[in-house]
Amino acid sequence: MPRIASTPPPDAPLTPEQALTRVVHCLDRALASPYKAAAFVRALQVVRSTDPDELAERARTGRLTELEGIGDATAGVIADALAGRVPAYLTKIEAESQIDITETGAEYHAALRGDCHLHSTWSDGGARIEEMAATAIALGHEYMVLTDHSGRLTVAHGLNEERLAAQLDAVAEVNAELAAAGHDFRILTGMEVDILEDGSLDMSDTMLARLDVVVASVHSKLRMDAEQMTRRMVAAVANPHVDILGHCTGRKIGKRPASTFDADYVFAACAQFGTAVELNCRPERLDPPRELIDVALEHGCFFSIDSDAHATGQLEWQPYGCDRAAERGIPIDRIVNTWPADQLVAWAAAA
Ligand SMILES: [Zn+2]
Ligand SMILES: [Zn+2]
Repeated sequence: MPRIASTPPPDAPLTPEQALTRVVHCLDRALASPYKAAAFVRALQVVRSTDPDELAERARTGRLTELEGIGDATAGVIADALAGRVPAYLTKIEAESQIDITETGAEYHAALRGDCHLHSTWSDGGARIEEMAATAIALGHEYMVLTDHSGRLTVAHGLNEERLAAQLDAVAEVNAELAAAGHDFRILTGMEVDILEDGSLDMSDTMLARLDVVVASVHSKLRMDAEQMTRRMVAAVANPHVDILGHCTGRKIGKRPASTFDADYVFAACAQFGTAVELNCRPERLDPPRELIDVALEHGCFFSIDSDAHATGQLEWQPYGCDRAAERGIPIDRIVNTWPADQLVAWAAAA
């Protein structure tokens, strides 16, 4: 019997800003077209830069759409919120973006304490570190590992050494603010570092050594021949700084085939060098595929159930990986993000 695993909608009354933010959250959760979400993000900017009295006056007189960047749908959300109603569009999108989970998957979901792979506006994410943290807190997480891309991924505005160093300071600041606000929650430092063609990593050892948790992923030359890809991945997995192997096949369901490698070598290396295999929860990835999860299980690997979120709503995708983990019978204690933060960090430092 499937259950709902989504966060509950916020309580009314909502300000227009809160209502629009929640619409964007739900659209991202539903993996809606980025253009759809973009209209609401634009409206959010308009609301933030418009005098509240002017906004209220325009809502009363039906003149919201005269504002550049406000269309019928966004005007409706703003007007409903100002009238103290839960916006009709929000109710609709809340319902449409509900995420189900199986009964056994729900046991895994309840055991998760954090998320080890997610992005912020520092690379190609759509939400600031604070916003991602606020949603992770609302989801009941005790921690999240911030893993923005490394510099080689220029399309994703990846971080070079200097920007990563600056991000560590930014994370320390947000952590201090969260602690001051009484949250029992930590942002752990990390990176999704690119695995280069020869299996080396796109970041210096010195910087990687400063991070709590390192996810390493292949993003380029996904179609190199299997023997080369195996060497490349084994080299990365064996690197003492690497803690989690991200979306190992690189497949995008219906769009891009899985890369080919000798899974026995790669997962034996993961088990040998203490590198967890990620169950990537993005609906278009769901990586590794079932048969490879079984191979990793046979080799005794650790796993990590990660959202790979690029927006707050996507932090809600862990149920997809939980269902997979339950279906393949992964023991819950092999999943590193069911561990407390201190245990995770100690394991990452040792492995
Ligand atoms: Zn990636
Ligand atoms: Zn990622």
